[in-house]
Amino acid sequence: MKALQLIILSFLAAIILSFSPTSKKYIVIDAGHGGKDLGATRNGIHEKDIVLNIAKQIKKSVERNDNYEVILTRDDDSYPSLSERTEKINKLNPEMVISLHVNQTPKETEKTGFEIYVQKNEQSKNLAEKLKHKLGECPVKEENLHLLRESKVPAILLELGFMSNTKDRAYMSSEEGQKEIAEKISDFIRGN
Ligand SMILES: [Zn+2]
Repeated sequence: MKALQLIILSFLAAIILSFSPTSKKYIVIDAGHGGKDLGATRNGIHEKDIVLNIAKQIKKSVERNDNYEVILTRDDDSYPSLSERTEKINKLNPEMVISLHVNQTPKETEKTGFEIYVQKNEQSKNLAEKLKHKLGECPVKEENLHLLRESKVPAILLELGFMSNTKDRAYMSSEEGQKEIAEKISDFIRGN
């Protein structure tokens, strides 16, 4: 009788295991700012809206592949504090974190394009190098930023362009520009 029970149990276990989903890769996308914190802002265009739109598009695009689950630190116009964000990240323990931001200079500038901030570790620097293949050549800098410092997983912070540059501002706030940026980042995530 015991042997039969064992056989039945292992049979059931095999069935359950074959139906359990394969382990997904978790990716965190952090849309900077939110709520009262507009981030960089000019002519009624706010950083918080640009990065949220792009974060949502990345989630949608990357999750077309069943192997990935993309978690957003915010998916609406709320403001989770920086420590709430990194607490969430460290609980989830994702493969990587990408924090999205928009650059700003006090006056209109000729400066344009992406900038990547990295952690003081090789994994983060490697991610930045790979991301550059999708985005094109851009500066990679080390900076002591809360999200990079407090995340215990590989993280990068990506500045999408300059709010204070006319062309960048138009591109980042356009539907076409946002779609293009989201696709480049999604390609990078899937290819990593
Ligand atoms: Zn920002």
